[in-house]
Amino acid sequence: MKISDRITDITGGGSDGWDVFYKARRMIAAGEAVIELTIGEHDIRTSAAILDAMHKAAIGGHTGYAMVPGTPALRAAVAARIAARTGVPTGPENIVITPGGQAALFAAHNLTCAHGETAAFIDPYYATYPGTIRGAGARPRAIVTTPESDFRPTRAQLMAGTEGAVSLLVNTPNNPTGVIYGPETLADIAAACIANDLWLISDEVYDTQVWDGAHISPRSLPGMADRTLVVGSMSKSHAMTGSRIGWICGPQEAIGHLINLATHTTYGVPGFVQDAATFALGQGDAVEAEVAGPFRRRRALTLAALARQNVVKAIPAQGAMYVMLDIRATGLDGEAFALRLLEEEKIAVMPGESFGQAAAGHLRVAMTVDDAAYADALARLLAFAERQAATRA
Ligand code: PMP
Repeated sequence: MKISDRITDITGGGSDGWDVFYKARRMIAAGEAVIELTIGEHDIRTSAAILDAMHKAAIGGHTGYAMVPGTPALRAAVAARIAARTGVPTGPENIVITPGGQAALFAAHNLTCAHGETAAFIDPYYATYPGTIRGAGARPRAIVTTPESDFRPTRAQLMAGTEGAVSLLVNTPNNPTGVIYGPETLADIAAACIANDLWLISDEVYDTQVWDGAHISPRSLPGMADRTLVVGSMSKSHAMTGSRIGWICGPQEAIGHLINLATHTTYGVPGFVQDAATFALGQGDAVEAEVAGPFRRRRALTLAALARQNVVKAIPAQGAMYVMLDIRATGLDGEAFALRLLEEEKIAVMPGESFGQAAAGHLRVAMTVDDAAYADALARLLAFAERQAATRA
C-alpha cells in the first residue's frame, strides 16, 4: 500500500550523521562501557516531589480526558511565568498545553504553513527541525550560519533566507551550539520577520539553562508579540523529558486554532501530568536552578579543560546542556573524529554534521554524565585531539 510522500519524505534521506549514535547504542547493548555524551537528557530523574504530585493527582481521579487546551491551573501558571519573565502581558488565553515541545513545534508549523509553503530555520539546528517542517507539509529552508559568527545568523543571512518564506524558526539558548542570541541578533531576527511578514516560531525549551548573558524572548521585542509563537517545555527545566509536557504561547486567535488542531490530533495531555507540571512551576525558580546546576558546573569544567590546550576551540558555551567544539585543527571531520573516539576511547559524542552543514568539523558534547566522569571523558577527548593534530603535523 502506498504511504504518503509527506510521511516517507520526513527524514529527507541520505546520511544524516547519526551513524555514530546508533553504533554507540549497539556497543552499549552488547555490554560495552561507553560514556555517552550524545542525547540531551539529564543524568538525574524527575524529582520525587513532582512524582508525588503526579501520583496524588492520578489517585485523586485525574485520569480521565483532560481539557484539550490544558487545565485552567496549568495555563494560568505558564502564562504567569511568561509574563513575569518577559514583561509581555500574557493570560491563559495565550497558552495551549501540548505533549512536549516537539508536538508544539509540529503544531506551530501546521498552524503557520500551508501545503508547500516555505518554513525557514537556522543551521546548525536541532535534528528534528527539517523533518517536523516536512511532516507539516511545508518546505524547509536552512539559513546556514558560520563558525566565524559563532553560528549566529547575520542580518543579511536572515533577510535573504526568509524571503518568500512564511515562518522562521529560531532556538535560543541553542541546541546544538550552546550559543545565546543577544539583543543585536534578536533585533535582526525581528527585522527580518517584520520585513518579510513572517511568523516567528521561537523555541525556548532551554530558557532556564543560561550560563553567560541573559535569555531574551523575542516575543518581547517591539511589534513581535502578534507574530510570535513561543515553544516551551518542562523537559529540560524540570527534568520531565518522559512526561511529555510543553506549550505554545501566542496570540489568542492563533491559540484558538491550535486548540482546534489539538482536538483533532492529541486530544490533550494527561490530567495527572498537567497537575504535576502545575505543582512543579509552583515550586519557583530555585528548583529550576537546581536542575540546571550540574550543567553549569560542567560548563565551568569544560572551560578549564579547554584552557589547558590549544588544538580544540570552543564556540562560546553560554547556555543549554551542550558544548560545541571546533576540531578542524585535527584534520578530521566531525564524523570521522567521533567514530574514532568511540572506537578507541569508548566515548560517544555527536558529530556536528548531525545538525546540518554549518557545524561540519565540530562536535556536540552533551554534558550529561556526572562531573567526575565528564571531566575524565573530556580530558581523554582533548588528548585524543592533540594526538591527531600531532600526527598531522
Ligand atoms: N527543541 C529543542 C531545541 C530540543 O533540544 C528539544 C529536545 N531535545 C525539543 C525542542 C523537544 O523537547 P520536548 O519535546 O522534550 O519538550
